[in-house]
Order: sequence, then C-alpha cells, then structure tokens
Amino acid sequence: MYRKTADNIMELNPEIAILPVGSLEQHGPHLPVMTDWAIASEFGRRIAEEMGAFLIPALPISTCREQMGKKGSVWMEPTTFYQMMMDIVLSLKLQGFKKIGILQCHGGIFIMTPLVRDLNARYNPEIKVALIDSNIFYPILQREGILDSQEFHAGEAETSEMMAIAPETVFMDRAIDCVPEVPQTYLSYGSIFRASPAGVWGEPTRATAKKGEKIFQRGTELAVEELNRIFAYMEGKDKLNYSNF
Ligand SMILES: [Zn+2]
Repeated sequence: MYRKTADNIMELNPEIAILPVGSLEQHGPHLPVMTDWAIASEFGRRIAEEMGAFLIPALPISTCREQMGKKGSVWMEPTTFYQMMMDIVLSLKLQGFKKIGILQCHGGIFIMTPLVRDLNARYNPEIKVALIDSNIFYPILQREGILDSQEFHAGEAETSEMMAIAPETVFMDRAIDCVPEVPQTYLSYGSIFRASPAGVWGEPTRATAKKGEKIFQRGTELAVEELNRIFAYMEGKDKLNYSNF
C-alpha cells in the first residue's frame, strides 16, 4: 500500500498497519547480507495484502552484534531501535491506525519483547501491537513436513526463501551445513563465527526454491491467523481497576 497516494490511503482508511523488520547482516558464504530484509519484504507484502492492511516498507537495519567479524553487517544500539520503533508506532497511532502487526524476520532483536509490552501497557486500548517472529513458524513447518531440518541462521529455510525470491543472489555451490555444539544463548558470549566458522547455523544444502514458496505460503497463513488471534485477545479485555493492559 506504500505505492499508493496519501489520498488513496485516506479513501481505503485501513486500521491495521504491517511493519516488517529485517536486518543487514552476514548470512554465510552463500546468501547476501540483505537476506532478512528481503524475506521481511516478501512476508510483509503477502500478509498486508491478505489483511487489507497498510504496508510499511521493511526496515533494513536493526540489531545484530552477534554477526560481528566480517564486513557488511550493520547494526544500531538496542535503545536506538527501541526509540525508533516507539516513534514509528506513535506516528501511526496519531493517524488513526488501531492495530500494528510487527513482523520480525531476524532472531537477534532481543529488545523487541519489552518494546511491544511497553507499547501495549502504555497505549492500550487506543492501539494494539502484535508481534510475529518468523522463527516461531519454522518448527511448525518442520512438523508439517515442509522443512527437513531446524532453522536458525542461513539454513534450509532462509536459503529456500531466497532461492524462491532472489535466486540470482544465492550461491548453492558455496553452501556449508553447520549445526554448532553450543546452544544459541552462547551468541551472548561470542560472535556467531566462534561457534560456526562459516557463519551458518543450520543445513542450507537441503534448500530448494519449491520449499521457499511453500514457506511463504504457509508462513503467511500462520502469521495472519496468529495476528487475528492476538488482536482478538486484546480486544476481549475489560478494564482491570486502573489498567487497560
Ligand atoms: Zn537471517
């Protein structure tokens, strides 16, 4: 909807806005640094279309200090990200948007949870903010047989998605599988390259463009269902003494 004029958007008067968030960061030897942003753009477009929502162009930069070590990863301070997102949501609230769906397509944005909680605690019921993290879909897609391995970073899922939407940027001949020994929480104790010299956490060699298209289709259905469920949950609340939250 960002391709329409302001007058068109006035006429359509959407009450939901979809805000996809990516990250500019290394994605192993076979995927481009734009990967999370490209995936966020595609998911955002599909979800907004499905919901008749105002689509905001995907944000390309967030927080990714865990990807330090090679050139091309760009981050901001978590507190800057928090403030920026607060400003964006409040600008939408002022214009009469009632519901904001944040679509997070990068796992390392740990300030997202307090941000969403603070926005809802402060501004509910005037505005309702729901968070969808694309990482929660991958285990479901694995159970449903769409994926064959666990996804964390530049693995089967992200590689399949990029093969579906930007195959010219994917180098499958350079793809290396790597599932590190340490748990993902160890990214707080050292860059991803310490745990995985390739900068990959998953099995990209299992990726295909066909799987990528299925991930986008099924992921969009799951995201729309979950967004509606969260908004309905928040709409169903009565005031609790002094609190609308
Ligand atoms: Zn990624």
